[in-house]
Amino acid sequence: MTQPAANCPNCGALVHFRWSGAVQTTCEYCRSILVRRDVNLEKVGEVGDLPREASPIQIGTEGTYRNKAFQVVGRILYEYEEGGWNEWHIIFNDGVSGWLSDAQLEYAISFQSAPPEPLPPAGEIARARRFLWNGAWYEITSITRAHYRGVAGELPFEYWDKKDVLFADLRTADARFGTIDYSEPAPLLFLGEAVEFDDLKLRNLRPLEETTSAGRAAASALSCPSCGAPLTINAVGHTLSVVCSSCHSILDATDPNLQVLEKFEAKQLIQPLIPLGTRGKLYSADYEVIGFQVRTTDVEGLPDSWAEYLLFNPYKGFRYLTEYNGHWNYVQTVPANPERIQVGKKPGAKLMGRTYVLFDTELATTSYVLGEFPWRVHVGEKNGIKDFIAVPRILSAEITAQETVWSLGEYMTGAQVWQAFQLPGHPPPARGIFANQPAPFAGQASSMWRVCLNLLSVIVLLAIMFYAFASQDTVFQRQYGFAPRSAAEASFVTDTFEVKGHPSNVEISIHSDLNNNWAYFNLALINEATGQGYDFGREVSYYAGRDSDGAWSEGGRNDSVIVPSVAPGKYYLRVEPEMAKNAQSMLYTLEIKRSVPSAGLFWIAAALLLIPPILTTWRAASFEGKRWAQSDFSEAK
Ligand SMILES: [Zn+2]
Ligand SMILES: [Zn+2]
Repeated sequence: MTQPAANCPNCGALVHFRWSGAVQTTCEYCRSILVRRDVNLEKVGEVGDLPREASPIQIGTEGTYRNKAFQVVGRILYEYEEGGWNEWHIIFNDGVSGWLSDAQLEYAISFQSAPPEPLPPAGEIARARRFLWNGAWYEITSITRAHYRGVAGELPFEYWDKKDVLFADLRTADARFGTIDYSEPAPLLFLGEAVEFDDLKLRNLRPLEETTSAGRAAASALSCPSCGAPLTINAVGHTLSVVCSSCHSILDATDPNLQVLEKFEAKQLIQPLIPLGTRGKLYSADYEVIGFQVRTTDVEGLPDSWAEYLLFNPYKGFRYLTEYNGHWNYVQTVPANPERIQVGKKPGAKLMGRTYVLFDTELATTSYVLGEFPWRVHVGEKNGIKDFIAVPRILSAEITAQETVWSLGEYMTGAQVWQAFQLPGHPPPARGIFANQPAPFAGQASSMWRVCLNLLSVIVLLAIMFYAFASQDTVFQRQYGFAPRSAAEASFVTDTFEVKGHPSNVEISIHSDLNNNWAYFNLALINEATGQGYDFGREVSYYAGRDSDGAWSEGGRNDSVIVPSVAPGKYYLRVEPEMAKNAQSMLYTLEIKRSVPSAGLFWIAAALLLIPPILTTWRAASFEGKRWAQSDFSEAK
């Protein structure tokens, strides 16, 4: 395909167009800004000096979004107090024009959209104002007055004479994103979503400065203007503050002379557990530790501190590792505005369908800084923090005067961090229970319950089969009398009877006519052939009467005993009843059955099976109790 081209009216060079719809472009040779007038190009201005490149994207970069290929054809560069960002103009293979924004390596794709309702004028926008658009609540999360810094390549409109531009950024609870752009008299709306670098599958990226000798030389040529110690800046173009580790000066990294902004008094030197400059691999991406800060809160009058490590990857941007008492979290900022909800009696937040419960609220003071930061650090700065948990995740809102920044952490053990950064020695042991630390038994309990329930159903099935197949043959039945006042010998033996079939249990039952009396039976089941016997005794007692509450009774006239696994053969019973000497005589029947169903063993088996899951559930619950005891929202407080 031949690209349309025209000659630069300023220098005569051939200017190619990647997109037939371009209204404006720039000449690569003389940096003139050119606007299409019918068939000709008109020079309307010149691109000034642009700051050092920080984005890995360039004009000509290609990628994919929602299975559609796109190419980067133009760029608008903005600057504001907290750094700069690029709006890359992208053209999809079906000719649709969109924008890929890169703000400190946080990426979003958006498209100019017809506003679902008239947009408020610039004077009426405010943070937290919400709009219901296309079924989602868009909330204004930040308002930025940016400075137009320059353009390059092909744009869908004329854009060259801007100065300060006002933007309102909007976010939803599910990472959708919007911008109201007040650069034109009628505000423009752009709607889209946050995207991950890897998902865009970008090709033809700009070679990074750290890979070029010029870039390395520039990075290593820096020195502290206060004490002369050498400095390095890794996140060139992103870093706003760099801290001299020798004299603790905080320097303006955007100033070529590294102006000293402040100097902080370190009460003690703090050595980061992971030294600055260490590289590691987390979630299959390489990161370098470039910054370190300690933040302190007051816990009942005593300072309590945690450490934050700033990690940098020149494509994926910034991540954080936090460490408190040997507990670690891998943290990433969240390009969404979680919905605030109520979870039972506790406040909560909902993000991407997951519910988080507020754990605590604190005021954190930055107390120590080292290395470089993509924001302006200031020792003594105080920020409100709210931590919401959904173990093993922690969702934190950091509240500043300008905005609320949400970040999401995932619990890591010291051993995982040591492994990721190949650190020598052993990590400091974790002390206490951390807010989002996984309970060591929580996962086990549910799987133990599953196994237990499966085994219980097997036992129930076995019991049913046992009852169904129990034959309950009566092998002996006979009535006897016993007169305690008689001088006759009490003990006697019964006739022999046969227990047939396979070895099975044998039930010996006593049915008496006792009334307000007791009897004790010494019994022995004796194998006629071997003489081997099973001895046992049973007491039967029955008392009944009537008092002011009515009729009452205690005990029973009948009793039975089960002898387990009796071998087949001929047997007889030796019987010796005992009663009080002056008692009335009694009649009783002895009945012997074989193979009777017995539930006792099944109950014992079921009880034994229940012990491990109950114990594990109890341990998990007591862990949760200890976790929430530390929360602002513990039941105890
Ligand atoms: Zn030119
Ligand atoms: Zn210094």
